Amino acid sequence: MKNHIIFFSGGKSSFSVADYVKTKYPNDNILLYFTDTLWEDEDLYRFIYEAADKLKLPLLIHSRGITPPQLMVQQKFMANSRVGTCSKELKMKVSADYLKKGIVPEIEKWHNKEFLKQADFIHDVTLYFGIGFEEMHREGPIRHNWKPFEVVMPLIENVIDNDKVLKKYDIRQPRLYDMQFVHNNCKGRCIKAGQGHFKNLLMKDEKTFIELMEQEIVISEYIRYTKQPQIKNGKCKDYMFKDVYEFISNGKRSDKIKNILQNSQYLKSGRRSFGEDKKGQAIKKPYTFMKSMSLEELEKQPIQCDIWDIGGCGCFVEYEEAIS
Ligand code: SF4
Repeated sequence: MKNHIIFFSGGKSSFSVADYVKTKYPNDNILLYFTDTLWEDEDLYRFIYEAADKLKLPLLIHSRGITPPQLMVQQKFMANSRVGTCSKELKMKVSADYLKKGIVPEIEKWHNKEFLKQADFIHDVTLYFGIGFEEMHREGPIRHNWKPFEVVMPLIENVIDNDKVLKKYDIRQPRLYDMQFVHNNCKGRCIKAGQGHFKNLLMKDEKTFIELMEQEIVISEYIRYTKQPQIKNGKCKDYMFKDVYEFISNGKRSDKIKNILQNSQYLKSGRRSFGEDKKGQAIKKPYTFMKSMSLEELEKQPIQCDIWDIGGCGCFVEYEEAIS
């Protein structure tokens, strides 16, 4: 009996791939595999569980147990549209460590495990990705990164209407698509997205946008703080980490956090100097998800943003070193 693992992201395309594999290999051992960033939209979980139930397939969920903002604070690095450290650490590394080295991450959950047809689902497995022909630029890196596994991308070779497949199982699409997002990743907060994507978040879910904006401000100020030579070389204790980590994790606003949010110069001038970098140069550049514009600037002048700059998660594209 052959093994098949579908990288199940919670998006419509990966559901179509699951249906494709199930229809083509009804008697084989098929597993839906989801790597959870713990930063997903609530409706994503409704979708993946309902999908697994209606497909009658086992679903394995793995997670490092931290969210992308928590990772940014731990790493003192703002993941952004050019450097997606969260996709590398929380998705790619988790899945590669497990499938290639058998390392189980901090959190493991099974759903419908009774549908697993044989316990060893990794031996000689074929991996499936829901990449369509409009994303063919991702094909080469994915195949390269997952060697020696066989990789199949059915949506490149077949014309499949995702909405028809959903209808076949009578499953409502994840609500982010109803809100005109192009994918169902990280509740519309994907740090690899562009101005148009974040403008859509501002229009459709202002509460989430404001929360994210405040997190961006606090993480940015924290990174600047840690760039100070005295903090970097350990001569001065890091007095902000605990407050920042708590705020990022549960929204708790200590006096330090309130102070940052009320008085942040980060976005008032956006270009002020804050300490020096390792070459002794003044640090002036704001740290933002989009590099070109902070979320606060976008909120103040949404008209001037590039609405066609959508972008989105390039998970499984950039990964190189940690998968080998
Ligand atoms: S979807 Fe975006 S925010 Fe979420 S893990 Fe991937 S790159 Fe990071």
